[in-house]
Amino acid sequence: MNLILLGAPGAGKGTQAEKICEKLSIPAISTGNMLREAMANGTEMGLQAKSFIDAGKLVPDEVVIGIIRERLTAEDCRNGFILDGFPRTIPQAEALDNMGVRIDKVIDIEVPDEKIAARLSGRRVCLKCGATYHTEYKKPKTEGVCDVCGDELVQRKDDMPETVLDRLKTYHEQTEPLKGYYEKKGILRVVEGQEDVADTTALTFKALED
Ligand code: AMP
Repeated sequence: MNLILLGAPGAGKGTQAEKICEKLSIPAISTGNMLREAMANGTEMGLQAKSFIDAGKLVPDEVVIGIIRERLTAEDCRNGFILDGFPRTIPQAEALDNMGVRIDKVIDIEVPDEKIAARLSGRRVCLKCGATYHTEYKKPKTEGVCDVCGDELVQRKDDMPETVLDRLKTYHEQTEPLKGYYEKKGILRVVEGQEDVADTTALTFKALED
């Protein structure tokens, strides 16, 4: 199954992507994680992306389209994939269509803006393996340490309150129109994000069957 997860920053796309990945054994592909990895490795693409990411703006379409085009040719995508954080603009969605990629379903996780700031301020990430945690809702076994790889957990610079508002604005202006784009194709499924991760996951799994 080829899936897209849509939703505002902090809506819980990454967590739901992990859950679907476990359930269906298909890779979760996060352009945000790939860009952060490029930044951590100091590659040219990472350096290019840094100023956009730190400002809460989108990285130029051609950069992320290039990343996805290459990633989707990998062997592990043969039986399907989950795109987390791509597409984020109409041109990105069109590029995906033009690559001949067939999308089965788009799961849109809805969380009101008022709740986003609180969610993001408690979010902690592992820069090494990309796993995400939350100081209240999804605690690691040992505080500050990644359950998966043992690396240190940090707060993303773009999760700081001053950048969150810019990211939300960017989301509403550039990403939200994708809902209409996929609704017209009849493949959009809306999930109301719940306080409890397990409740959201139950709704997500149900939406996969609709
Ligand atoms: P995320 O981890 O998905 O919230 O992504 C973090 C940041 O990476 C975003 O705020 C953007 O600056 C950048 N980014 C990730 N995916 C995309 C995309 N599909 N298009 C443009 N920028 C992106």
